[in-house]
Amino acid sequence: MTGTADIYHEMIIDYSRNPINFGEIKDHDVTFHDSNPLCGDSIDIDMKIDDNKVTDIKFHGNGCAICMACSSVLTEITKGKTLDEVRKIDKNDILGELGLEHLQAVRIKCALLSLKVVKSALYTYMGEHLNDSPDVDKLKEEAANLY
Ligand SMILES: [Zn+2]
Repeated sequence: MTGTADIYHEMIIDYSRNPINFGEIKDHDVTFHDSNPLCGDSIDIDMKIDDNKVTDIKFHGNGCAICMACSSVLTEITKGKTLDEVRKIDKNDILGELGLEHLQAVRIKCALLSLKVVKSALYTYMGEHLNDSPDVDKLKEEAANLY
């Protein structure tokens, strides 16, 4: 049987074996770490930010197949975007890309850990570089309420 579900499944396995944007950026402008103790996923994301744009992004750490696949997709989506555009990345952008819209609640954390890390890195950067930005607290709240 070959269906859409199988294609997505293959994509996830593929990304987990050959993750995209996997590695470290030594001279990053911001980095953030978070983990999902329920599964054991643990992800660091490094970003280079120039002129309010994410010029490079890499992730490293360990995660299950869903976590690695979603981190690959997310870093691809994020690269080249302005900070404002990164803010607007929605969980459905990631889930939809891999056919995970109906993921069980327990696996959602695997899928969205990297998005949480990116949003956390963003408010960390904004807090450090854009003084008095009222968006920082809002973004912090968005990241906390992601799942
Ligand atoms: Zn996981």
